Amino acid sequence: MVQELREAGLRVTMARQAVLTWLTVHPHSTADAIAEGVREQFGALSLQAIYGVLAACTDAGLLRRIEPAGHPARFERRVGDNHHHLVCRGCGRTEDVDCVVGERPCLEPVDEHGFVIDEAEVVFWGLCPACQAAGGSMVGTHYHEEEWQ
Ligand SMILES: [Zn+2]
Ligand SMILES: [Zn+2]
Ligand SMILES: [Zn+2]
Repeated sequence: MVQELREAGLRVTMARQAVLTWLTVHPHSTADAIAEGVREQFGALSLQAIYGVLAACTDAGLLRRIEPAGHPARFERRVGDNHHHLVCRGCGRTEDVDCVVGERPCLEPVDEHGFVIDEAEVVFWGLCPACQAAGGSMVGTHYHEEEWQ
């Protein structure tokens, strides 16, 4: 951890080590979850301090930030590959899925319109087993009553 921070050109602080350590065990955590977890293990750190650490480590390439539409951002230490995510529409649970191609961009548009394409953002949306078991009631979508019958 110390070496990774140094190689990324970041000063080694307790807060940065604590956040990276937490994310090693709990990938795809939100800032809130990280703050809570880090507090339990390493003592008080303000949410502001956590945000600062996350921003610095993301900028330095030590963390990847994923922002599924309509859900809070999540952070992970698995950087440098083109893996994708499965995201639960209900609870936001996020899982890694390897890219079948491996390199960016793994999809090509039918018409590039002259763009140089460097990335295709792929997110698989669905319902996790827990939310399926809950009958989809945790899903933020509104259903008409008839559709339940
Ligand atoms: Zn879920
Ligand atoms: Zn991931
Ligand atoms: Zn892919």
